Amino acid sequence: TYSLGPKIRSWDASRRMWLRKNPGFSASINGKPRVMLVTGSPPGPCDNPIGDHYLLKAVKNKIDYCRIHGIEIVYNMAHLDRELSGYWAKLPLIRKLMLSHPEVEWIWWMDSDAWFTDMVFEIPYGKYDRYNMVIHGYPDLLFNQKSWIALNTGSFLFRNCQWSLDLLDVWAPMGPKGPIRDEAGRVLTANLKGRPAFEADDQSALIYLLISQKDKWMKKVFVENTYYLHGFWQGLVDRYEEMMEKYHPGLGDERWPFVTHFVGCKPCGSYGDYAAEKCLKSMERAFNFADNQVIKLYGFRHRGLLSPKIKRSRNESVTPLKYVDEFDIRHSAHKIK
Ligand code: UDP
Ligand code: MN
Repeated sequence: TYSLGPKIRSWDASRRMWLRKNPGFSASINGKPRVMLVTGSPPGPCDNPIGDHYLLKAVKNKIDYCRIHGIEIVYNMAHLDRELSGYWAKLPLIRKLMLSHPEVEWIWWMDSDAWFTDMVFEIPYGKYDRYNMVIHGYPDLLFNQKSWIALNTGSFLFRNCQWSLDLLDVWAPMGPKGPIRDEAGRVLTANLKGRPAFEADDQSALIYLLISQKDKWMKKVFVENTYYLHGFWQGLVDRYEEMMEKYHPGLGDERWPFVTHFVGCKPCGSYGDYAAEKCLKSMERAFNFADNQVIKLYGFRHRGLLSPKIKRSRNESVTPLKYVDEFDIRHSAHKIK
């Protein structure tokens, strides 16, 4: 069967030794694990130029969040493995980054169409000390209903360890483009509730794997649903004004979603499950909703959630540091704790 590369067996020990020899590259910084956020998009231009514009806005949104929270960011546009193209491309990429950055404790994959909408919320890493994978989903949908949307692979965390390499090894073989991926798609559709007939995708394959080898893997998988590590865009994007009226960033859940994921919108491709105009408008709203939280520090806000234009939210001051104390969300992120 297909393999991602030579089998690695003693990564935990090798990595531990490397970390000991390289004290300048610590796996934690100020008591927090070192995190690398990984995202990307296809190698070529979008079918439609507006798609490229929204990819740019999506990466600005991620750069903002990562800067505020001290997270490194990798943007990939290559297919590292010819067979694992499309949504499968994240697997060889994650493996390569784990092996090339032993100092990184968590690799955080995020789709290009997933946007940060809570710029203050921080992942509660301490909660996951005993786990190696954190993914948004619902255990009931996974084990009782075997639903193909029980988990979402648009935003998830993987610890840099042997367990993760082993999981990648058993996850990848359904991925090679062509007859293997097509045949695997038939197996997935036959076994997962609600799944339309199409080639194997990484999300269905992971769900199928975790259901069929539950005892082997689930002890180390944290299925998170107390906040939106992934939040389905419908039902969120139309409520941003209400959220702004009633709540504040830092909550991460339905009151102020951490991530808004545009599942089924394909602004970079030519077909999607939803009307392109509705998708683009909703993305624009998500972008401005998030950007308001960023530019508040500088004394600006968007004229409305659909406007790229901004206006001043306060006057210039001769004592600017009082605004830093009040509006720098790196401070409020600390205060919330
Ligand atoms: N992706 C990539 N290279 C590709 C295709 C996809 O890096 O050639 C990434 C991109 O970030 C995308 C994710 O993989 O958001 C999931 O792919 P999918 O086709 O499901 O796209 P989505 O529906 O998330 O836009
Ligand atoms: Mn997506």
